[in-house]
Amino acid sequence: MTRKQNQPIYDVIVIGGGAAGMFVAGRSAENGASVILLEKNAKLGVKLGITGNGRCNITHSGNIESFINSYGKNGKFLYRALTEFSNQDTISFLEKYNVKVIIENNGKVFPANGKSESVVKAFQQYIEENNVKVRFHSHVESILVEQNGNKKYVIGVKLRYGETILGKKIILATGGLSYPKTGSSGDGYEMAKSLGHTIVQLNPALVALETEEVFAKELQGVPLYGVKVSAIDSNRKKICSGEGDVMFTHFGISGPVILDMSGIISTRLSENEKVDVSINLLPGKNRQELDVMLTDEFKISKNKILDNVLSGLLPKSFVPVFLEHANVPIELKCNQISRIQKDKIVETLADFRIKIKKTRPLEEAMVTKGGVSLKEIDPYTMESKLVKGLYFCGEVIDIDGKTGGYNLQASFSTAHLASQK
Ligand SMILES: Cc1cc2nc3c(=O)[nH]c(=O)nc-3n(C[C@H](O)[C@H](O)[C@H](O)COP(=O)(O)OP(=O)(O)OC[C@H]3O[C@@H](n4cnc5c(N)ncnc54)[C@H](O)[C@@H]3O)c2cc1C
Repeated sequence: MTRKQNQPIYDVIVIGGGAAGMFVAGRSAENGASVILLEKNAKLGVKLGITGNGRCNITHSGNIESFINSYGKNGKFLYRALTEFSNQDTISFLEKYNVKVIIENNGKVFPANGKSESVVKAFQQYIEENNVKVRFHSHVESILVEQNGNKKYVIGVKLRYGETILGKKIILATGGLSYPKTGSSGDGYEMAKSLGHTIVQLNPALVALETEEVFAKELQGVPLYGVKVSAIDSNRKKICSGEGDVMFTHFGISGPVILDMSGIISTRLSENEKVDVSINLLPGKNRQELDVMLTDEFKISKNKILDNVLSGLLPKSFVPVFLEHANVPIELKCNQISRIQKDKIVETLADFRIKIKKTRPLEEAMVTKGGVSLKEIDPYTMESKLVKGLYFCGEVIDIDGKTGGYNLQASFSTAHLASQK
């Protein structure tokens, strides 16, 4: 490639101005590098601005072990990144830019003013202060490399309309495939793949589930609080489980516990596995205790209609669906319930089964499961093991976490590592 006269060679080119891209650009410049940040949108941090329903759950207050566990089997890869730039570092960074935070009872950390825009502004100010050159409407199409012996190294990038920008280090921070309208349309995967990187299968995660059963539509908005949920495959093997709140939606089920399990479920569905969700509606009691409880309750309320008695245990609008599932007529009085029917009610309370049809699409997923294979990235530096000078940070990497601020923290921690010289 020939260099035009006076064409600058940047120390660092950052591709993508989301959470990871903004932070890595600012940090690299703070460390003394000349940095250009290329963003295809007309503004920075579009996705960051809509996180946490506009409140931005910036990180979590848990310790490093709880962080590592929150990213499933790939969590260990982040050990170095999270040690070098922790949740406390994220909080201190924001406080430096006058964004005070609050920690909720569940450990989730938010800006105290409840506004994600103040977080976006903090990163923008960081970039400006450190003289990062930002170019909007700059859609990077490919990463330019040269070969030295059997080793490839980066020399720059090519934009969509042919312009080339030269740089010694290129940081790919293009995000995932979820919510593509925010700009993350998967370009980074293509660029990494064209340089020989493996892309681990991409699936939606932190996403609602569609059910085969149509009753969800009637129940939309109805919550099931504090239930235990397990996902079961066709061999009756438990794939994953969790405890929390489930919400019926017009197409199926959602809620924090469902979102957290959805990544693993979506991977299994993409392998053509059949998946059922089993909901233990009263997890505080085992089957025997449920049986005793119902026996007592049916004795006390012998002349009452079953529907009314169960409404004391379950949301009222859910009871007809529950009893249909249990195959017990809703109009029975408690003293008319047979032993078999009572057993069926106990069984259904402990294991309310729902068949999962599919996940909602990537367009509605909060994160992407899969991405650039961790085997090909150095966890100490985030540099590619295949191409010298190519670095990764943020969601483009094969890392996805639970809800709770883990995904943004992973973006900042990997960005921090990638910014080091
Ligand atoms: C609705 C929603 C709510 C969420 N809430 C939370 C939350 O509260 N807490 C949390 O931890 N996580 C949350 N997440 C997840 C979190 O937002 C992401 O994991 C995080 O933003 C990823 O950061 P990133 O910088 O890697 O990617 P992104 O923020 O997606 O940024 C990527 C950037 O790269 C740009 N780009 C892409 N391709 C190119 C190209 N070819 N050339 C130039 N630029 C390009 C894009 O335009 C975009 O600006 C949420 C996600 C969604 C969708």
